[in-house]
Amino acid sequence: MLVSWNATNACNLKCGHCYRDAGREMPQELSTAEGYGLLEEVKKSGFKIIVFSGGEPLLRPDLCALISRAKSLGLRPVLGTNGTLLTRDKVEQLKEAGTAAVGISVDSIDSEKHDHFRGIKGAWELTEQGISNCREGGLPFQIHTTVFPWNYADIEKITDFAARSGARGHHVFFFVPTGRGKKNMAATITPQQMESLLERLLSLQERLPLEIKPTCAPQFMRIARQLKVATRFRRGCLAGISYCIIGPQGEVYPCSYMDLKIGSVRDDPFSEIWSKHPVLLKLRAQKYEGYCAVCSYRGVCGGCRARAFAGSEGNFMAGDPSCLYGYQEEKKMYPLAIELLVRLQDGLPVVSRPYAVMAEELGVSEDDVLKTLRWLKTSGFVRRLGGIIDSRRLGYAGTLCAARISPEKLQQAVGIINSYKGVTHNYLREHHYNLWFTVTASSAQELQQVVTEIRERIAVTEFYSFPCRDLFKIAVKFSKEELTDVFNRRCRTENPTG
Ligand code: SF4
Ligand code: SF4
Repeated sequence: MLVSWNATNACNLKCGHCYRDAGREMPQELSTAEGYGLLEEVKKSGFKIIVFSGGEPLLRPDLCALISRAKSLGLRPVLGTNGTLLTRDKVEQLKEAGTAAVGISVDSIDSEKHDHFRGIKGAWELTEQGISNCREGGLPFQIHTTVFPWNYADIEKITDFAARSGARGHHVFFFVPTGRGKKNMAATITPQQMESLLERLLSLQERLPLEIKPTCAPQFMRIARQLKVATRFRRGCLAGISYCIIGPQGEVYPCSYMDLKIGSVRDDPFSEIWSKHPVLLKLRAQKYEGYCAVCSYRGVCGGCRARAFAGSEGNFMAGDPSCLYGYQEEKKMYPLAIELLVRLQDGLPVVSRPYAVMAEELGVSEDDVLKTLRWLKTSGFVRRLGGIIDSRRLGYAGTLCAARISPEKLQQAVGIINSYKGVTHNYLREHHYNLWFTVTASSAQELQQVVTEIRERIAVTEFYSFPCRDLFKIAVKFSKEELTDVFNRRCRTENPTG
């Protein structure tokens, strides 16, 4: 379990992708004392690793004191930094404080490209120096790279650089456009590029001694299984399950890329937020929607909840729009989904396993039918599948009542009527008879008693009861062509290939 703390918003660089829109220190960032309290709460919540990040965490004068406190509490303190401030002295101080490792951001090994992206001339030189200082000072480090279209083709070169520099790992971050990076929407790589890079990185992992970790592309777990590449990781997306992030002023988010504040450590203890917040409980329940709901890799992948959140108006349990596999597999389900919808409109066979019968009729397996139905429900095509019970065959009786009630007595009458459990609808109408409601009861005799009682209690003279004699149902049926059109339109709007 790991938690990140953006210990400050202050930063000495101006990177284009920064999700924090970092730069200046924010007013009232957590003080040292508040930081100590937070670390205790983090420990109490069962976390093992704390990542101090920013902004640039090395700009916090009390950073070493905080690291030292984390260490004394039994946490493993690590640092995420741009590396420009890692002087020899600083490396020594970090080591003494108990820093377990540092992650240093490198977006290109071409100094000009790196500086251009980091927004400051000379950044590359300082970062490179920081890397040598860590190596020579014996502070374990890894390289962090965020992928964009402009550096997409160079990622393996950066991995080689990381290996040459003595880094323990190369963590490749897949950009989710939020914060300052939101303006860079067009700068994200395509799902095809993502798929291809993940395949390349996993193959590389088999050949190189350093750890290559794709981050925030949880489908790497699916690809690792497809390619039969062993990884030490157990799950793709950790947001809310074994990871969350705390901002400089104590605000808590399920993940750095999900713009969904779930509390503040200044209002509630962190341990309370972590153990009880409904958003986190929902993420832990893992009841995904869209293709992620039926994907056989969902347990190890989980899909990126931040991309789902950004791509579906805040529904963080929706399908991950960046997953090419999910899109392609979902498309393969359309023909059976259409056949099933056509068939379902004629009713279910009344047998113990109706879907097995339907599967046989359609020449597919029962599992395929159930999977397709689950997907139809989680994708919003089908809201409810259920029987309609003909209550009259069970002896039930129903009536529609109409009453004329003066405005001053209306509220009281509505309260009386609604207190009867057999009342299913009660509504106002612009009509001489202005209040209409329906009542059902387990027999015609009981119905008569209830209606008489209601009429006496609301004390009206103008009142009618229209008992149900005949039943008419309006069936809306969609043809195969109409359903095909609906699916084709969805396919066009959701096509991640553009
Ligand atoms: S939600 Fe997405 S960005 Fe956040 S931790 Fe999960 S994979 Fe990474
Ligand atoms: S469909 Fe969802 S759960 Fe399956 S691999 Fe893709 S992102 Fe992961």
